[in-house]
Amino acid sequence: MKPAPFDYLRPQTVEEAVRLLATTPDAKVLAGGQTLGPMLNLRLAQPAVLVDIGRIAELAAVTDDKDAVMIGATVTHAAIEDGRTPDPTGGFLPQVARGIAYRAVRTRGTIGGSLAHADPAADWLSALTALGAEIAIAGVRSSRRVPLSAFVRGAMETELGADELITGIRIRKLSSRARFGYHKICRKTGEFAEAIGVVVDDPERAYFCAVAGATGGRPLVMETRAAPGSGSVTVEDARQLLKGAHFTGDDYELTLHAAALHRAYQRAYAA
Ligand SMILES: Cc1cc2nc3c(=O)[nH]c(=O)nc-3n(C[C@H](O)[C@H](O)[C@H](O)COP(=O)(O)OP(=O)(O)OC[C@H]3O[C@@H](n4cnc5c(N)ncnc54)[C@H](O)[C@@H]3O)c2cc1C
Repeated sequence: MKPAPFDYLRPQTVEEAVRLLATTPDAKVLAGGQTLGPMLNLRLAQPAVLVDIGRIAELAAVTDDKDAVMIGATVTHAAIEDGRTPDPTGGFLPQVARGIAYRAVRTRGTIGGSLAHADPAADWLSALTALGAEIAIAGVRSSRRVPLSAFVRGAMETELGADELITGIRIRKLSSRARFGYHKICRKTGEFAEAIGVVVDDPERAYFCAVAGATGGRPLVMETRAAPGSGSVTVEDARQLLKGAHFTGDDYELTLHAAALHRAYQRAYAA
């Protein structure tokens, strides 16, 4: 199928983009088009106007301050994979990027587009939740920063207004003593996850977070700070952690997610 007819606008600044979004009825942001493109072709989305943010230089910028790095919304998965952007995590972000889809998708798909779409199985959603990332949002009236955990309301549902734009993702720097583990279970390389486990432990910052992703809703943050500093979180321990975090899947799904979480712990604390 081909898309329904639409108009196409290409603003040069964030200010112009949010003004267009606020004043143009039925407008939709276009970033890498890796999700929106197929949705247009299948006519699952039929916006009257596409606002292409791909030429806005400030959205492709990465700023590095003392404590954190702000990654612009249109930075691609491939740029992160290749280490072409400063990495506040000492290798965690490129590792996650490498597991997203296929190289062709990664060269176009953007970190901001992935978070705006908020597919529960998306890799950035889980990984950046575990890092405690914040989303920078611009609108015509004001700009704000929202923790990712609060930004996502549910499956493909976010805090973003129709006239708002994600401008960047702020990630605090991990120390050199930080440990992280990421494990994605999917049928074959390049596919969306069936289960994701993430562990981030930074003793220097007294920061620990374990997350289960691809659970069908927002990423589940484990309530228990389970045995940080050791790799001895068994699959059974992981099952209990998931139950404690009110995991609602059936027994097969619980086993799958427990395996992903267990392996994330193993990777985080491997010698
Ligand atoms: C074959 C295939 C396999 C894939 N596998 C994976 C996978 O394994 N893991 C994974 O995580 N993802 C996967 N994806 C999704 C991919 O990562 C996309 O890049 C991503 O979901 C959307 O990013 P985009 O830049 O292409 O956004 P677009 O498709 O352009 O936009 C997606 C949505 O976000 C909105 N949007 C985009 N940018 C902004 C912004 N800055 N502010 C506000 N709204 C915005 C758009 O209006 C639209 O609603 C896959 C995609 C394909 C086609």
